[in-house]
Parts: sequence; structure tokens; C-alpha cells
Amino acid sequence: MATTALMNTYGERKLTLVKGEGVYVWDDQGRRYLDALSGIAVCGLGHAHPAVTKAVSEQAATLVHCSNLYNTLPQQQLAQQLCELSGMDNVFFSNSGAEANEAAIKIARKYGNDKGVSCPTIVTMAGSFHGRTMATLTATGNAKVKTGFAPLLEGFVQVPFDDVAAVAALVNDNIVAVLVEPVQGEGGIRVPADDYLAQLRSLCDERGWLLMLDEIQTGNGRSGELFAFQHTNIKPDVVTTAKGLGNGLPIGACLARGKAGDILQPGNHGSTYGGNPLVCHVAAAVLETLQQEQLISNAREQGNYLLQGFREALQGNAGVTSIRGMGLLLGIELNRDCGELVGAAADAGLLINVTAGNTIRLLPPLTITREHADEILRIVCQLIENFQEVAA
Ligand SMILES: *Cc1c(COP(=O)(O)O)cnc(C)c1O
Repeated sequence: MATTALMNTYGERKLTLVKGEGVYVWDDQGRRYLDALSGIAVCGLGHAHPAVTKAVSEQAATLVHCSNLYNTLPQQQLAQQLCELSGMDNVFFSNSGAEANEAAIKIARKYGNDKGVSCPTIVTMAGSFHGRTMATLTATGNAKVKTGFAPLLEGFVQVPFDDVAAVAALVNDNIVAVLVEPVQGEGGIRVPADDYLAQLRSLCDERGWLLMLDEIQTGNGRSGELFAFQHTNIKPDVVTTAKGLGNGLPIGACLARGKAGDILQPGNHGSTYGGNPLVCHVAAAVLETLQQEQLISNAREQGNYLLQGFREALQGNAGVTSIRGMGLLLGIELNRDCGELVGAAADAGLLINVTAGNTIRLLPPLTITREHADEILRIVCQLIENFQEVAA
């Protein structure tokens, strides 16, 4: 299909998808693909899930939008549900992940300005990804995302990921917050040491900094808990999420707790669409379905099965440098760039992604069964074997 009327932000796209059902999607040639990417960790319930379809049509026939000048029940209900499930106090709704992080960044800056800090500064990590807006791309630890967009914003410093000592070594009275992904997604499914978040929590408490977690990719059940921080016994001051929350309807959330929840006051922030009744009603249905169908424990179970399956099948494979994961966030790092595997996988009936150049990223729907997991294992291991033969 001609894409000439679109800005060329996504490059050439070979597939035109027309329909989805469960873990499968179909293209305009009638070919079926197992979707092991879920629209980049978005369609956790898979495609055309009846609970989502029902929620969309119910709310579309009732009230789609009325602006945030008015209270709506779906927004109130979703906020309460999210706070109960996460242990956070309150929430601001946005339309995307980057905007949820913008809210977090504004909270950190206002927290600093209210305390009289001269240039409130946020610590972020090398290899991180926080979005494509000016503040979030400045926060991002990937030169490719930033190049060409100078001047960037002031008030960010970067340290290596999974290195508490590097954060502790920062001597800077302007620091007000640490922003970090519990598992780096775009950065290649990088899972830090078990005690990383707990150590950051202690350090932030000691220094009066906010601990802000970007769970835009790890949230909504994908890691095997609703939020990845729930694998630990710490709580952040701020946590952002988006992707899986609306199963494809655009919604983001910035949740806060304690003092961080009182920082934004009337006039400080807002969004015309953010948290409208349509997206909130759907997100509420997503959270309910995650629980009713026990999809979070399924993510843990199928994720462990896949991780173990890959480790067994690829053990001793010289081209595979690392196999990492948590729940249904899985990364297989190869010893050379492997972007061409995306097309090869599609030819074999599987949608995957390659991130950080050399890492196969798998983010299948949380609804996958053992049979789907076996199909993913079989196809991906075959692709890696063929890829090695080409190199040899
Ligand atoms: C995808 C992602 C974002 C950006 O979300 P958008 O909805 O694309 O703005 C931010 N942070 C993380 C960790 C992400 O995975």
C-alpha cells in the first residue's frame, strides 16, 4: 500500500495488517501471524478480546468525551481501581506513555522548585527509553533518539543502569528525583540485580529524592505482577504506565503517593483528552479481565516456560550472548546485529521485534497458552540457527 502521504517516521513497512483475533493477526493477503509483539506490549489481552469490544461499544454508545472540565464515573472508577491495585494514592491520566512521563518530570521539577532548588535535576539511566517528546527524549539514555534535536532540556544527568554506586556517587544539590525502568524494554530487556530498586529506594529516602519508575512497558501484568515493582517490597513515589493499560486505546497514567501526590494543583497540568470516559471504561475492563482470567500468573508461568525453553534449546549456541526476561518481557541477545530476523520471522508466520540492534524482543499477549509458547520457541530457535549458518 502506498504510504507517500505519511511522514517517513517509520521507514518501509512490508506488512499491512487488517484483522486480529486472540494471539493472531492477518495481513491483506490473508496470511496469519502469531503476534509475539502485541503492538509493542499493548495488546496484553490479545486482539478483539470480547471484554474490550464490549467496553468500547458500551461506552461509545454512552459518552465518549466531555473534557476534564467535568467529572466522569469511568475516570473516577479507573483511578480508584489503579490505586487499590498498586498501593499508590492518586493518578493523572494522559494519552500516551511519553505524556505520563512528562507528568512525572513536572512533578519532580515542581517538587524541587517548591523546595527552592535552583535547577531541579533528574537522574536517568544509560540505555533507558522514556519517550519522544523533548523532555522524555532528553531523559532517554540512547543517542539515536536524541541526535538532531538539540537544544535539549536542562536538568537531567545520566548514570549507568543497574549501578547503585554510580547514583550514590552523584554529588549535586540540584538532584530531586531518580527516573528508572524496573526492566529496560527498548534497551534490550535488561533485568537489573534483584535488590536494585530496593537500594535505589533507600538512597532516595536518605537524600530526599523522589523514586520514579517508568512502567510504561513493564506494567499491566506483563512482568508477572501488575507492576514490576510489586516483585519487590518497595513502593515508588511516582510510577508511570501506558502501553498495556488500554489494550490499544490510547491512555497513560502517572500515579503518585505521599508528598508526590500533592504537588500538582489546579492549573499546574492538564490534558484535553486525557482519561476520557471511553479510554477509562476500556482500561477498567482490561484490569478486571487481567484478574478474572488470571492472566498475570499466566504471564509469569508462560514467561518462565519460554525463558527456560530458550535457555535449554540455545545453550552452547555461540551466536547467543544472553537470554533475559521477566514474565512475558523476553530478550535474546545475539553476537551481531540481527534486524533482518524481523522479516524472516514474518515469513515464518511470527511477529517479533529486534531492539538495541542485536536483541530479539518477545512481548506476546498475556493470554498465550503452552501451545503458543511452543510455536514461538520452535520458530525463534530455527531462525537463530539459520542466522548462524548464514554467518558461518
Ligand atoms: C513505549 C515507552 C515509552 C513511550 O510511550 P509512548 O506511548 O510511545 O509515548 C516510555 N517509556 C517506556 C519504558 C516505553 O516502553
